[in-house]
Amino acid sequence: MQPQSVATASMVPLFETISVSKAFGVFKALSDISFSVSEGEFVSIVGPNGAGKTTLVNVVTGLLRPTAGEVRFLGRDIAGIGPVELARLGMSRAFQLVNIFPALTVRETLAVAIASRLRRVSNPFRSLKRDGVLQADAERVAEVLGLRSKLENVASTLSQGEKKLLDIASAFALNPTIILLDEPTSGVSTADKHAIMEVLVAAAKAAGVRAIVQVEHDMDLVERYSHRIVALQAGSLLADMTPAAFFADPAMTAAVVGTRPRL
Ligand code: ADP
Ligand code: MG
Repeated sequence: MQPQSVATASMVPLFETISVSKAFGVFKALSDISFSVSEGEFVSIVGPNGAGKTTLVNVVTGLLRPTAGEVRFLGRDIAGIGPVELARLGMSRAFQLVNIFPALTVRETLAVAIASRLRRVSNPFRSLKRDGVLQADAERVAEVLGLRSKLENVASTLSQGEKKLLDIASAFALNPTIILLDEPTSGVSTADKHAIMEVLVAAAKAAGVRAIVQVEHDMDLVERYSHRIVALQAGSLLADMTPAAFFADPAMTAAVVGTRPRL
């Protein structure tokens, strides 16, 4: 099956990394990584544990400054810009707010995500009830992610799949242009993984998200939903190719899956 684009596909890069390297002390977590993501693409970043996937997402989303190289978003250098400023420019990622604030309701979790991205970080809780814009936006995002009936439920009481959707919902909070997700389906059953991906892709379309980048271990999901696969191995770019080319090469799957510990 050919995956559908989240938007009309063209080859204008939304963001790109140019020869990005990231060292932690003497350890090189990323070496000379260049890749780009274009309008309408769903890109999966794959690789064994420790390959540098999360570091790459952290560099791309401005949480970490690269040791060398450039990260460009909509033609602008955003290296080390920080997640709040980046969200304002239209790049968003899930932050696992459910795990940080388990006692909040779905409504409050979404409101905090929206408020923090609007830079009302001084006291995001104070004006939650009064702020109609914030409430309306929380409800809109919940609707898009299929969580409307759970708005008043406490996050810790949600099913694992619903928690994942709430994490994803938090990334939709500010109408992002592009969304990045680090293992959005980890820890849920195979059936729930597919349901989450279906909701994610439909929500991205409904919300006008122009590209999705995810780190994903489940190769069934990677094959089914990606337009392109970026594979990392020991901090280097092993492959940047279509799923058809990737899965046709046994060396690729062996490199990515072979050394992964069984869960
Ligand atoms: P992945 O997400 O592919 O499993 P990571 O990007 O989390 O891998 O980590 C890549 C490598 O960088 C690992 O060896 C990890 O231990 C190391 N690393 C990640 N973050 C730091 C850090 N803040 N300080 C030192 N080493 C780190
Ligand atoms: Mg990781």
